[in-house]
Parts: sequence; structure tokens; C-alpha cells
Amino acid sequence: MKIRRIDTACYRFPPHRKIVDAIQEVECLEVIAATVRTDTGDEGFGFTYTIGRGGRATKVMLDTEVVPLILGEDPRDTQRLWEKMWWGLHWVGRHGVTLLAASAVDIALWDLKARQAGQPLFRFLGAARDRTPVYNTDCGWLNHGVEEMVREAAACVERGIPGVKIKVGKESRLEDVARVRAVRKAVGEDVKLMVDANLRWNAAEAMARCRLLEDLDLFWMEEPLGADDVLGHEQLSRRTSIPIALGENLFNRHVFREYLARGAAGILQPDVGRVGITEWLRIAALAHSFNASVSPHLMMEVHVHLVCATPNALFVEQVPMLERFLQHPLRIEDGYAVPPERPGHGVAFDEEKVSAYCLETSSWQ
Ligand SMILES: [Mg+2]
Repeated sequence: MKIRRIDTACYRFPPHRKIVDAIQEVECLEVIAATVRTDTGDEGFGFTYTIGRGGRATKVMLDTEVVPLILGEDPRDTQRLWEKMWWGLHWVGRHGVTLLAASAVDIALWDLKARQAGQPLFRFLGAARDRTPVYNTDCGWLNHGVEEMVREAAACVERGIPGVKIKVGKESRLEDVARVRAVRKAVGEDVKLMVDANLRWNAAEAMARCRLLEDLDLFWMEEPLGADDVLGHEQLSRRTSIPIALGENLFNRHVFREYLARGAAGILQPDVGRVGITEWLRIAALAHSFNASVSPHLMMEVHVHLVCATPNALFVEQVPMLERFLQHPLRIEDGYAVPPERPGHGVAFDEEKVSAYCLETSSWQ
């Protein structure tokens, strides 16, 4: 079986609502997609995304560097092809655009393999469960007022969602604490409550902030420091009782290993749009060997399969960023995300709904 054709596309979708966190506003959701086709008529679909910048550069990387490495190859050889992409491109980037482009193709290859096997991706990978709890992030953006946040968080709990996450990183420490306290009061003691600082602080500031939040039984503190500050996270982890979660800004297993080896984080949040499925599974297995958990970042429609195939995974993160554009939105029932039983990952854009947002398409054979 050989890959005979790869179609690529770049879309720019407006955000589903105003989204602000401690360091940025989501300008739009850029999706960079790859459809891989074989000489046997098999097909796989993969995609990655940005939050407003770099989409076109990612498509150029995909078209000019990744596609030539993959065309003509056997799509079933996902381990070999990941290594080929990694070593073929590591000179120009072991993070960022290079990995985004490789991830889109890697997701397409796994989709193709599962479709060819006639199985949903989570079963093809070896299911650990057939549904997974979700937590909701959409109720807690930093631009939300306290009332809005409390109302939406309470509505999540009423729908049976077992966890909610709210953004922190306001200038005032006390304002942050008051916001988190208001949500804790609204959702009750049994609901898992997480906070996310989006890389905002240094270690000293994070320690002061954590101390003020420690009586609120937080399930995790996410990205308190810059993604490269392993030492700072290690110091923070030793001094706070709040578990530290991170990983959406890490692009390969080597940096995840560093965090695990130093005890600098206990919950890893790899994003399949940035590490691909092949490397995501390696990171999850690595975490398992350290008795650590994974709880992936966004991309809920693909991650539902990976979480369902990973015994040490916790949640799928619920943010309906793509929902409007899909043929089959992810099913969420009683607080659980249910992966589709269609072969592959089952994610497909509704062409009628996305065509107006398409910036550019290319076809390679
Ligand atoms: Mg985050």
C-alpha cells in the first residue's frame, strides 16, 4: 500500500465566543488539514490548529517539507514515518510549526489505519474504556465576569459535567482568589475544580498565588510558569499541595520526560495537534511509568479516542471550538464523552459550513 495523494487546506474560523486568558486573546481558530489517499482507495484525515497566527506558515511547512517525505510511503508504518519526519526536519525545529505540520499527517495516518481495519480509533488502539469523563473550560475565560462564570459553571454541573476549569492571572491576586472562591461555592465540594494561569507567572509569584488558593481543594494548577521553566515548576511542586498540570506548550516526549524525572508536574497535557498520535501515545506511556496522569489539551474530538485507549488518562477537555463545523459533533452524555463507533477517529468537516472559511487548498501526488 502506497500513499498516492495528499490534499492540504488551511481554514480560518472565527472563535465561537470571545476568549481571553492571562497572556492572550484567541483571534481565530486556524485549522490546517491533510487528507492522505492511497493506491488502494483508502483515506485518512488529520488536522492541527493555531489560535490565530502561523496557520499559513504551517501549511507551507506541510506542503513543502512534510508531504515530500510521506508521498509514496506505506501509511501503515506510523513508527517509521514519525521518525522519518522527526529526523528529516529536526534541524529546522523540534517544536512549533514543524511539529504542527507533522502532527496533522500523523493523525491522518492513524485515521487511515483504523478505517482500513474497520474499527473506531480507540478500539484499534486497544480500548481501556468506552467513554471518558469531560471537564469544561468554556465557562471560565478570563474575560468573563464573576456572575457569568458562576452561572455557566453551575449549568455545567447541572448537566452532570464532573469538572470545570477557570482561568486565573488577573493583575490582582485577591481578585483571582475571589473568582475561584465564587465558582467553588457555586459548584459545591464534589466537583473537580481546576485553574489555568497560561504561563503567566514566575516561580515566586506562583508560590504566593498557590498559597492563597490552597484551601479551595483545586484538582490542578495549570501552566503557572513559562513552558521551559522546568526548575521553577520543580520548586513550585515541592512547596504547594496543589497538583501541577502542564504540557499544551510542549512538543515532544523528551521535554515531558524532563518534567517527570524532576517531579516538576504530575498531570501531563499533551496536545495531539502538536505532538501527533504516535508521540502522544509515547508520552502517555512514559507518564504511566512514572505513575503520572495525562489529561490532554483541547482537540476533544480526536482526544476522546486517545483518552479511551489510555489507562492513566483522566479527562477530555470540553471546549466547543469546532462543533459548528463538524458533520458529527462529539456526543457528551451525563458528563461523559462518547467516542463514535465509526471507523477511524470519525471527525469530518461539513464542507458546506467550512468552505467560506477556507483560505487555501493544495493537492500533491
Ligand atoms: Mg491551558
